[in-house]
Amino acid sequence: MNQKRHTSPSRRHGKHKPHSASFVSAPKVAFDGAKLVLQTGRERSILRRHPWVFSGAVERVEGDAQSGDTVQVCDAEGGFLAWAAYNSESQIVARVWSWQAEEKIDADFFRRKIARALTLRKDLKLELHSNGTRMIHGESDGLPGLIVDQYADVLVLQLGSAGVELWRETFADCLQELCQPACIYERSDSDGRALEGLEKRSEVLRGQLPENLSVTENGIHIAVDVATGQKTGFYLDQRDNRALIGELSTGRDVLNCFCYTGGFSLYALRGGANTVLSIDSSADALQLAQRNVELNALDASRAEWQQADVFEALRKLRDQNRKFDLIVLDPPKFAPTAAFAEKAARAYKDINLLAFKLLRPGGILATFSCSGGVSDDLFQKIVAGAALDAAVDAQIVHKVNAAADHPVLLSFPEGAYLKGLVLRVTG
Ligand code: SAH
Repeated sequence: MNQKRHTSPSRRHGKHKPHSASFVSAPKVAFDGAKLVLQTGRERSILRRHPWVFSGAVERVEGDAQSGDTVQVCDAEGGFLAWAAYNSESQIVARVWSWQAEEKIDADFFRRKIARALTLRKDLKLELHSNGTRMIHGESDGLPGLIVDQYADVLVLQLGSAGVELWRETFADCLQELCQPACIYERSDSDGRALEGLEKRSEVLRGQLPENLSVTENGIHIAVDVATGQKTGFYLDQRDNRALIGELSTGRDVLNCFCYTGGFSLYALRGGANTVLSIDSSADALQLAQRNVELNALDASRAEWQQADVFEALRKLRDQNRKFDLIVLDPPKFAPTAAFAEKAARAYKDINLLAFKLLRPGGILATFSCSGGVSDDLFQKIVAGAALDAAVDAQIVHKVNAAADHPVLLSFPEGAYLKGLVLRVTG
């Protein structure tokens, strides 16, 4: 790996180019690595601090760059725009590390970024609510492709881009030094890695994985399987929304669709729900969910678990004329990108329509989308269409998003993937 050359001090001595009348190019910055020269006019998104460079925006690559290498992104005149991680295999050909010409992309740079991300979480006083937190949230923490989740004294690292792949050991060293976890586990096995030309990997990076790992979130114990569970083991982003559903569940018959390891169900049971029916297609998830009921000494007789496809199960419940007072719909990502939005819209409409029909008057529907390709607006329109077709009127009681340890960069709206509507059926 040629990381050394990224730290070359030579590039610090930027040469200024006289500004032309038609196009004011940024100053040139000397660099002995490769340069990614953008087409005329295609520098705008980078100037707006969006961290992605799409392959279609690139005029040419000057010099030799391997996947993951730091390159200098330049405007059409060769003026400095940003330092970024290169990946020839991805449509996102570069992801920005820094917009500062004087920045060195080295281990110390990453240590500072990680420390800054940890400071935010500390300021949020998350430890008052949970020992399961998202410590690093990719682009939104200035580290494109890097996810780090904390489950008690275990950290789970997920690398989703060639840039972060290259700095894997550096991240492990920094996290070990700054957090002193018992274990750092790598779960780099998301489907997105194929788009980056990366193989899947899932293994212990540092320390030893404890056998029975659990987090305590708002007083609820949740077993987490970081090695084989979904994502990094748990859906930390729904923490606040689970608490909200717990509060709304008192005295209600609850239906939790796509329940995974029972997150919303556990809160509903503790919140005093009459009954909770939870549905998921994964037998492993349901097994862990039932263990979680025991772990919290909750009344298992009020909980019913069903391994089924939610699309089919909702139809069956409709045919059986079952009714509920609170329904949670938290499906997986139907639309990873905008290209899948139409197909996803049909799926969202289908389950929301069925859910509206299963609700008693005054019932609550908590409906979520974690699809980056479906905007807040579109999601609300889909749900409104579903209510119309189900012939119900509903009001929005809460509009919710991911918890605060999943911040969103103003310049990177794509980071706001999770959206939810808590609706009350009025008639
Ligand atoms: N609400 C959960 C997270 C849900 S993740 C929490 O708070 O922790 C989405 C879940 O949907 C996964 O557990 C997955 O197994 C399940 N799933 C995906 N497709 C499904 C389908 N068609 N029917 C039922 N479950 C499905």
